[in-house]
Amino acid sequence: MPALISLVVPCYNESEAIAPFAATIIPLLEAIPETQWEIICVDDGSKDDTLAQLIALSQRDPRVRVIELSRNFGKEAAMTAGLDAARGDAVIPFDADMQDPPELIPEMLAAWRAGAEVVLARRVDRSTDSAMKRQTALAFYKLHNALSHTKIPENVGDFRLMDRVVVEALKTLPERQRFMKGLFAWVGFRTVTIDYVRRPRSAGQSKFSGFKLWNFALEGFTSFSTAPLKIWTYLGIAGALLALLYGVLILLRTLLLGNPVPGYASLFVAITFFGSVQLISIGLLGEYIGRIYMEAKQRPTYIIRKRHGD
Ligand code: UDP
Ligand code: MG
Repeated sequence: MPALISLVVPCYNESEAIAPFAATIIPLLEAIPETQWEIICVDDGSKDDTLAQLIALSQRDPRVRVIELSRNFGKEAAMTAGLDAARGDAVIPFDADMQDPPELIPEMLAAWRAGAEVVLARRVDRSTDSAMKRQTALAFYKLHNALSHTKIPENVGDFRLMDRVVVEALKTLPERQRFMKGLFAWVGFRTVTIDYVRRPRSAGQSKFSGFKLWNFALEGFTSFSTAPLKIWTYLGIAGALLALLYGVLILLRTLLLGNPVPGYASLFVAITFFGSVQLISIGLLGEYIGRIYMEAKQRPTYIIRKRHGD
């Protein structure tokens, strides 16, 4: 039996990108020898005609299946839906906008056949991203990997090949809010990395704005590290020691020089500073408690309205 390869494609308002995607990817997959393939397109509540195009595609080609989510759940959830539905011996998440070169797929398959369970595709050149996005991404990877035991490989997106065992391992992780980059890294397995150059979008706009990326980064930190919770103990101890020292200083000065009641400024600074520090730490607690709350509800990660072409 030839191996079955699944491509998992989350699509959100990708009206202009679907046609070029299908026109490139299908002949390319067709040309790979000794493999069968399937494409699982997940429509993540698109508001344009993405879904209609995907359904038409699945009617033309039975190897294309469409999972229609009931609303926009976000890329992580859409990808999870696709991974759950994939039947392949190897599974490759792939963006509809063709920013990741499909020509890399045969190379990934070769590495997989040679024994790799995960084949990562690393962006060596991100010049298609803005300088701001590159800098913030770099800062995110550095900080995340400093805080967390789960090291996320830098400049590796969701584009990768995973063996069936890896996908099954991912499916056993019970969390509902799925920071996929982290989960991918957490499950481990024998990993090989291939370098590539990321291209500009084939059409349309990026779906990730500044604030969405910020929240995404927070999700990453809080999903994989408790360090932000713990630093407050140490900051608190350091602050208390400093305050104690300052207290002794004031006591000595009062004893030696008397008390002419100065210190309004230092009092004000201390109150506002420590007040702010406390608010930040409470806010951080809130980030974690909010996530515990969301997990505790046990709502599913996504809801499927309909499956097409099954
Ligand atoms: N996407 C999705 N749901 C969302 C946002 C994005 O399924 O809520 C899909 C989108 O259609 C694309 C992929 O996720 O196929 C990556 O999105 P995008 O290209 O906008 O991200 P970028 O490449 O700019 O990081
Ligand atoms: Mg993109």
